[in-house]
Amino acid sequence: MTTRVLISGASRGIGRAIAVALAAQGHEVGINYLSNHTAAQETLATIQAAGGSGYLLPFDVADREAAKAALTQDMKNGGVYWGVVCNAGVTADGLFPVLSGDKWDRVLRTNLDAFYNLLHPVVMPMVQARRGGRIVTLSSVAGLVGNSGQTNYSAAKAGLIGATKSLAQELARRNITVNSVAPGFIESDMVAHLPKEELLQRIPMRRLGTPEEVAGLVAYLFSASAAYITGQVISVNGGLI
Ligand code: NDP
Repeated sequence: MTTRVLISGASRGIGRAIAVALAAQGHEVGINYLSNHTAAQETLATIQAAGGSGYLLPFDVADREAAKAALTQDMKNGGVYWGVVCNAGVTADGLFPVLSGDKWDRVLRTNLDAFYNLLHPVVMPMVQARRGGRIVTLSSVAGLVGNSGQTNYSAAKAGLIGATKSLAQELARRNITVNSVAPGFIESDMVAHLPKEELLQRIPMRRLGTPEEVAGLVAYLFSASAAYITGQVISVNGGLI
């Protein structure tokens, strides 16, 4: 049986690698993104070239009404999701004394409010389908230990971890596992502007991780072998913490 999975922010970076990995497991992959249509098409083409199936589902995860409308329509078209990966995220860094309210709001809405916006419309249908399932959120090392210049991002990711653990407890009896993957520094557009040499000095393995190394863990959490793992935060960080 083909199962449908939704991945937010799957046009680029870690989300794209997750989409490719889950498609290779045989899932039909809903590729969400905000505006980068060309990149999203590339994700889909990669999946299809490998014999997998997927489709594009653009909407802003920070927009509650837009998310609800898109997800409800998509479930009407193709059925309930078996799994969801809350991956889309943004940073807007700045030391706290000079951090604008706009940066605070944007980062909280996209990284934390999206948990509600994405999962609230889909969880009850998942429960009612009685098929079990998988939910994975992408948090961060910043949500575990903080990071100077990222109070907004750290707050959002720490909040995401709390929400993940609570939802795991609510859904455990339904055989829907809910876990968070906490990457360290991973090669993607998100870290492209950061000073690489400084980052490398902080990482015991002296290299950035790859999106595929994060996707490998998500694929494991989606596998049958991981059915008894829930409510956990698992780091992929080269020994950073
Ligand atoms: P990228 O910046 O490379 O990609 C971000 C993705 O999210 C894109 O697909 C983008 O779509 C999408 N996106 C951004 N905002 C929205 C929105 N409002 N609605 C829908 N989609 C949106 O990020 P990464 O791959 O690096 O990060 C993925 C996740 O991993 C994030 O949650 C991030 O916080 C987390 N993470 C990343 C780390 C890293 O080192 N890279 C470290 C720790 C955590 P579009 O292309 O249309 O803009």
